[in-house]
Amino acid sequence: MTLSDRILMGPGPCNPYPEVARALARPMLGHLDPDFLALLDDVNDMLRRVWRTSNALTFPVSGTGSAGMEASFVNFVEPGDPVVIGVNGVFGGRMVDLARRLGADVIAVEEEWGRTIDPERLLEAHPSPKIIAVVHAETSTGVRNDIAALGREKGEALLLVDCVTSLGGIPVLVDEWGIDIAYSGTQKCLGVPPGLAPMTVSARAREMILPRPTSWYLDLNMISRYVTGEGTRAYHHTAPISMIYALHGGLSALLEEGLEESWTRHGEVGTALQNGLVDRGYSLWAQEGFRLPELTTVTLPHGVEDDHYRHELLHRYGIEIGGGLGPVAGKVWRIGLMGHTARHRNVTALLGALDEIGTGL
Ligand code: PLP
Repeated sequence: MTLSDRILMGPGPCNPYPEVARALARPMLGHLDPDFLALLDDVNDMLRRVWRTSNALTFPVSGTGSAGMEASFVNFVEPGDPVVIGVNGVFGGRMVDLARRLGADVIAVEEEWGRTIDPERLLEAHPSPKIIAVVHAETSTGVRNDIAALGREKGEALLLVDCVTSLGGIPVLVDEWGIDIAYSGTQKCLGVPPGLAPMTVSARAREMILPRPTSWYLDLNMISRYVTGEGTRAYHHTAPISMIYALHGGLSALLEEGLEESWTRHGEVGTALQNGLVDRGYSLWAQEGFRLPELTTVTLPHGVEDDHYRHELLHRYGIEIGGGLGPVAGKVWRIGLMGHTARHRNVTALLGALDEIGTGL
């Protein structure tokens, strides 16, 4: 079995859409070449459609999802700012770490891993926070946190949302839900390799960008001059040309299928996998009603040795699934069905492999 036969069903990168491989092979252009800038504008327009927003500042940050997270905090948070952050998994915890490094007065609203955060708890955590931040789809637990209620009740606060594992796979309605700042990553439900962080910033949040954020590289004041084409396009850093081609290829594939059709496909294959696992006696770990179709967490059956089992799946069947993170390492599996990987044939392949290896269930 060759590496190109691998089925990437972990929580990390998915298999890219075939259009992406062709896009990556396009001839190199300069970052100020008018043909490249036209393609970048096209990417930003497609991102607006995928984010469901009219935000002018919508673009791919040069860096992985973590760069999107960093850009989302460093441009808005000053020492002493009250920032409410929901924590029910690894990635909410990272937001806390980052905001604390920036000197924010962090109010962490903790919830048990595997359970969703009640939006009321976030809204009541502080009388006038500058930011309310939450992870939409917690990749460490497979749980969805509700966003719409936060947007309705946020008051003067900016609503900042991590959409790394949600964008393209489940509805993310930036304008309708009142999200001010959001970031994602290319490698999950957008079906593109890792390396860019699509980001969007509302007009209201844009007014609140700090004049001199502590990061030079992620300073949105400078980046926006290049990416939006407002005013004269000025060099800030060399855009990762081939990755932007790749994102163009992935977004084109997604929009050709249709965003809502993609949400439906993710929903259907996720349900098929979860039902197939339950039928075989496995227990799903994430809270019912808040389970992500694109990332299923399942409790390891008693007596199953995690490393050995995942090694068998990878080497005998070419299927990668993920183990648990942090406190649930060795206790759960995380199975991704994201982007181009979200296909019934992959559900069939995994369930068939689990049946053949056998877990004693
Ligand atoms: N946020 C969430 C919810 C994630 O799942 C991840 C990565 O898996 C990140 C942030 C960080 O993204 P990256 O690893 O692309 O830097």
